[in-house]
Parts: sequence; C-alpha cells; structure tokens
Amino acid sequence: MSVMGNQTEKEELGRATWKFLHTMMARYPETPTESERKSLKDFMMLFSTLYPCGECATHFNKLITTYPPQTSSRVAASQWLCAMHNNVNERLKKPLFDCNGIEARYPCGCEDEKIE
Ligand code: FAD
Repeated sequence: MSVMGNQTEKEELGRATWKFLHTMMARYPETPTESERKSLKDFMMLFSTLYPCGECATHFNKLITTYPPQTSSRVAASQWLCAMHNNVNERLKKPLFDCNGIEARYPCGCEDEKIE
C-alpha cells in the first residue's frame, strides 16, 4: 500500500460513516434528557479519537473541540453535524451541502418504533 493509503477505501468508509452519523442525529430525541445529551456528547468525542482513518480523526477531533457537539435538540444536533461535515467538505474541496431540513433526508427505516 502507498504512503497515502487506499483512497477508495477511505472514501467508502467516510460515506458509510457520514450516513450513520447523520441518521443517528435525525433519530436523536427532539427533547433529550440530560443523560441523552451527555451520551451524544461523549459518543462524538470518543468517536473522534477512535475513527480508524488517523488523519481524519486528528482533524475531526480538533474541529469538534473548537465547535462542541450541540445536543439540546434533534434540530440542533442535526444542524451541528451538517455544519461539521461541510467544514470537512470545504477542507477536501468538495461542494457544500444545503443543511435546510436535513433531519428529513436521513430516514432510518425505524420511524414506527417508539423511542423509550
Ligand atoms: P461524503 O462527504 O462522504 O458524503 C456522503 C453524502 O452525504 C454526499 O454524497 C451527500 O449526499 C451527503 N452530504 C454531503 N455533505 C453533507 C453535509 N454537510 N451534511 C449532510 N449530508 C451531506 N477524507 C479525507 O481524505 N481526509 C480527511 O481528513 C477526512 N476526514 C473525515 C472525517 C470524518 C469524521 C469522516 C466521517 C470522513 C472523513 N473523510 C476524510 C472522508 C470524506 O469526508 C468523504 O466521506 C469521502 O471523501 C467520500 O466523499 P463523498 O464525496 O463521496 O461524500
């Protein structure tokens, strides 16, 4: 493998991961408890240290340390992640995404399930 690693695999991992993260935010409670808020913040901070692409993890950890996860509601969390993804898009010279109504764009197929 080259020093740069395998770009195709890195991109596939990125797409799958973004899909998971955006879908998780679209399913996050509209009015979370303190415990749910802590879980989301802890999850994102741990995620940013454990993401398998080291270069990505280093940048993302710095980014979300500067702009901490917004956990007060589904809209706040979804908009925050959309903005973080756009920050990565900008760094990678990719087009920016329109974050309006993003929550409706990431269905989980589990909309009928009650959130306990
Ligand atoms: P992706 O950026 O993977 O996006 C997938 C789809 O999500 C897009 O097609 C679009 O439909 C939608 N989308 C795009 N922007 C948004 C948004 N703002 N909000 C919601 N949906 C959106 N790669 C590197 O080479 N270097 C890095 O440092 C790096 N850091 C990363 C950090 C993280 C946390 C993650 C998850 C991935 C990182 N990647 C990095 C991978 C990179 O972001 C892309 O996933 C990869 O290059 C594939 O890009 P793509 O053009 O297919 O679209």
